[in-house]
Amino acid sequence: MQTSFTLAQLNDPQVASSEKILRACVHCGFCTATCPTYVLLGDELDSPRGRIYLIKEMLEQDQPATREVVKHVDRCLSCLACMTTCPSGVHYMHLVDHARERIEKTYKRPLIDRALRELLARVLTDTGLFRLAVVAGLIARPFAPVLHLVGLRRIAAMLRLTPRRRPAPPIDRTGKVYPAQGKRRGRVGLLSGCINPVLAPSTNEAAIRLLNRHGVEVVVAAGEGCCGSLVHHMGREEEALAQARNNIDAWIRELEGAGLDAILVTVSGCGTTIKDYGFMLRNDPAYATKAARISARARDITEYLATLDWAEAAAPVPLTIAYHAACSLQHGQKVLREPKDLLGKVGFVVKDVPEGHLCCGSAGTYNILQPALAERLRERKIANIERLKPDAVAAGNIGCITQLATGTGVPVVHTVELLDWATGGPVPEPLASLAKRAASAA
Ligand code: SF4
Ligand code: SF4
Repeated sequence: MQTSFTLAQLNDPQVASSEKILRACVHCGFCTATCPTYVLLGDELDSPRGRIYLIKEMLEQDQPATREVVKHVDRCLSCLACMTTCPSGVHYMHLVDHARERIEKTYKRPLIDRALRELLARVLTDTGLFRLAVVAGLIARPFAPVLHLVGLRRIAAMLRLTPRRRPAPPIDRTGKVYPAQGKRRGRVGLLSGCINPVLAPSTNEAAIRLLNRHGVEVVVAAGEGCCGSLVHHMGREEEALAQARNNIDAWIRELEGAGLDAILVTVSGCGTTIKDYGFMLRNDPAYATKAARISARARDITEYLATLDWAEAAAPVPLTIAYHAACSLQHGQKVLREPKDLLGKVGFVVKDVPEGHLCCGSAGTYNILQPALAERLRERKIANIERLKPDAVAAGNIGCITQLATGTGVPVVHTVELLDWATGGPVPEPLASLAKRAASAA
């Protein structure tokens, strides 16, 4: 694609890097077929190619973002299916991240939008505040249909995502070390994160047990917190970079102290961002090298587990598992085989979900900010899952797990909880009654 930036514009390293991305696009349109918003809406401007044109124009003209640009960029899920499909290697992720940042800096959203975004940025990234919000959401949840009817669809969507049970106070694992069982074969850092300790503390509990059982010491680095992914995808770059720097400092202290073989992440959306810290901080002289070191060590938990020698294991109940490939894992990190291979290795029957490349509509805060599209994608995904008649769904991202669980009676669990169960851990809570039935039938 031809571009027409001035030399002065290209002096901005961010514009220079986006210009390179734009030039790689050959307008072939292959990406449109796999873009969820194009599949749903059929509008070129809601396809990757259309958005690339809009972003190019916005950056070249050096003007504040227009309503039209904001509308179509906001509808993008950042699912990155287009990057998997593109034959020219267009790095759409970095381009849309730049666009979101430009929008945030130059476009004044309506007051209600600004308030909601501010609320999400504050609450979702703070574990304590998030738990309070979940408890309040539990009380308000019954009013979701009324709020939907009176047009407050985003508030209604937020309430529908609230878990049905009051979450226990989150356990602060930061600064804690979980020793390996038997001979130590490795030492890893584990991201505790911000939402996970409230919505799914069982995931990291299972990850720690599983790693310890396989001879790996786990540390949750003192001082670590939200990875910055949620605000990064809202274009709030300074906040995202501050959160990234905070985690980098925490992990560098461990790296240079007792050492870390890897930094493991059980939420694939966070993993994609941490693997990108090196790019995000490439122009920061104080952090560029440290960020690149951290990104090089970051792994999805299943990537690391796949490198270990596994003890003999057998699925406690021979379940059929529909494997839902989170976009951030399959498109963002290109981790495709490991979760399925591991589940198969411990005796589960694993099935791929048809149209597996299409997003479930979760996408960070997308299911709150774009509830209509998110619901359509969720329904489509669930219909594809239920066609397989699985006993359970496995996924590697809390966003997808929450999104899917609100729309199906099929239990949805994190992959590591199934692996932990199969190697001696407790039955994952959503599978408790299923396991009981199977045990009494045996
Ligand atoms: S990231 Fe996903 S929604 Fe956005 S343009 Fe690419 S395929 Fe479409
Ligand atoms: S597939 Fe790649 S090169 Fe073709 S239009 Fe899409 S982004 Fe551009």
